Amino acid sequence: MFLRVENITKTFGGLAAVSDVSFMVERGSITAIIGPNGAGKSTLFNLISGMHLPTSGRIFFNDTDVTKLPAHKIARLGIARTFQTTHLFAQETVLDNVIIGHRLRTRSNLFDAILRTPRLRREERECRERAMEALAFVGVDHLADQPVGAVSQEAQKRIAIALCIVTEPQLILLDEIAGGLNPEETAGVVELIQKLVQHGFTVCFIEHKMPMVMKLADKIIVLHHGRKIAEGTPAEVSNDETVIKAYLGG
Ligand code: ADP
Ligand code: MG
Repeated sequence: MFLRVENITKTFGGLAAVSDVSFMVERGSITAIIGPNGAGKSTLFNLISGMHLPTSGRIFFNDTDVTKLPAHKIARLGIARTFQTTHLFAQETVLDNVIIGHRLRTRSNLFDAILRTPRLRREERECRERAMEALAFVGVDHLADQPVGAVSQEAQKRIAIALCIVTEPQLILLDEIAGGLNPEETAGVVELIQKLVQHGFTVCFIEHKMPMVMKLADKIIVLHHGRKIAEGTPAEVSNDETVIKAYLGG
């Protein structure tokens, strides 16, 4: 199996942010994670991407147990993610954000990521080419030399996706990537997600915008108070009484 999450639990103090959640993701599919604020969606991504160690449960990626691996090792194995609030350096150019971000994500050592040794300078040239390709893929290569702080929110979301694809991942986790975008910009992001899958990436996305979820998802997983309360196709989930009561507000 491509991704298998088995009985994963994460507690903070006395609170179970994620509680005994299990699911699988098939290669090439699009999975949506939905649920009210505080349901544990972002924590689930933090667990899969190695930013949090689970309290119990296991995570397998391509049948490798990645449960206890640090984030940079998981990134190197092929899982990339975006953050709910964009983690970009406003003063740096769009291109430099992708280059720096790539290093910060795939290296264990901050100094190694930031210092420019000759070996790293050579790597940086290759990385620069890859970063430009990633920016072209997401449609913002014309902004490469602009400071990130000067580009639109939509462009920043696209840059966050470029930051993912530059690490050459297999699985991309998008945490509310369309948050704060208008309908037109959201439609652009929907198209970009479709393009990602056409190019062989597997996508899991956390989203509140239900039309986007219904349009894109092969499978929807519904979290509520840290627990998985439903899983199924858009048709199945939108007709599920428990989901309607807990989340869809029916
Ligand atoms: P969602 O993304 O679904 O809105 P989160 O995963 O961010 O929810 O949060 C789930 C619960 O876990 C919330 O009650 C939140 O306050 C708590 N939580 C998340 N991260 C932490 C943390 N690092 N420390 C303590 N509590 C946290
Ligand atoms: Mg969240």
